[in-house]
Amino acid sequence: MKITSSLLTVALLFLFCFVACKKNDISQTATPKEDQERIDEKYLAKIEKLGFKRSSVRCYDSIFVVENDIIIAKKFLDTFHIPVVNPNDRHAHSDQSLSFNNIRIYTSQPWWSNSTYYSALNRALYEWNSAGSNLNFHMLFQTDQGYDWNLIFMSLPGTTLGSADFPGLPDLNGVPGYNILINQNYINALGLTSNQISWILTHEMGHMLGLRHTDWDINGEPNSQDGYYVGANYFPNITVQDPNSVMRAAFNTSNNGNVLLSSYDKLAVNTLYPLNSCNLQTFINRPSVVSSGEASGTLYPSYRGPINFIEWQITNSATGYNYTSTDSDIEFQVPSLAPGTYVFKTRITTANCVSSWASKTITIQ
Ligand SMILES: [Zn+2]
Repeated sequence: MKITSSLLTVALLFLFCFVACKKNDISQTATPKEDQERIDEKYLAKIEKLGFKRSSVRCYDSIFVVENDIIIAKKFLDTFHIPVVNPNDRHAHSDQSLSFNNIRIYTSQPWWSNSTYYSALNRALYEWNSAGSNLNFHMLFQTDQGYDWNLIFMSLPGTTLGSADFPGLPDLNGVPGYNILINQNYINALGLTSNQISWILTHEMGHMLGLRHTDWDINGEPNSQDGYYVGANYFPNITVQDPNSVMRAAFNTSNNGNVLLSSYDKLAVNTLYPLNSCNLQTFINRPSVVSSGEASGTLYPSYRGPINFIEWQITNSATGYNYTSTDSDIEFQVPSLAPGTYVFKTRITTANCVSSWASKTITIQ
């Protein structure tokens, strides 16, 4: 993806500055003396605007060292004004996009056992799956089939409701980012509804797809996260402001969450991930070993979106048991099964695609 020319200018300025600092300033500080007391807020603010973490800033006389090995001269900061990237309040996306289109979201027990959060997640997946892109979002209750994203309840600083990683970049711990963090205690303290939590989840999922805040530029948000360059690229086909976007930076509690993706949010995801081929999968949400009581009950497709019908097959080669079902209702009632080893298979058909068959061997004890 191409970055805007203005951003390229900023990148070139960085490069020039670092080279210049290394040539001129380091040699003057052969025995640098750390002097943290004297870091002026005006420098910290500028360094942060440049996209570096202010907690990483170390001051040595005439230079700052950030992120351990990047040198910025005070003189540079004194004269440097962040170029305004013609802020225009438009949709933008990160440099990298997802390299796969079936996204398995691990939904652990604290999520699925909480009806408010479960229905919020279900609705967010349904919304993204209905957007018309080539992305398919799945809810998985087990990890034995692998997963791509994880949902984690945790405390986040200040008034942060949620946080997520951009595609292709390591997270704070340096491993490939795939986490959506949700500040459940704060959300509960605010008394947000399931629809409002859906809005937050839809927003965080947007980041995981590479969508920036639509108001990132007027907010002066940096182009890096956790020390890694994210990039910001306007969509050439979205040339208007979008106050109804789910990708606005701030959530207003007066927003009831009844509307999630705006028409331009949908255009954005369809531009990044156009539906030009069909690669729909589905997954079976049952552990590979279950008791007979756990095996029966309702099974839903992992894909949470509009479907035309769903097919199920359950076979037991030892006994010759064979059960099939084709239904437009996504609730599949698993028949009562005697202990044994069964192969569960399922396939879904949507308006655009027929999925491949999913298959899982399940032992019923
Ligand atoms: Zn955000």
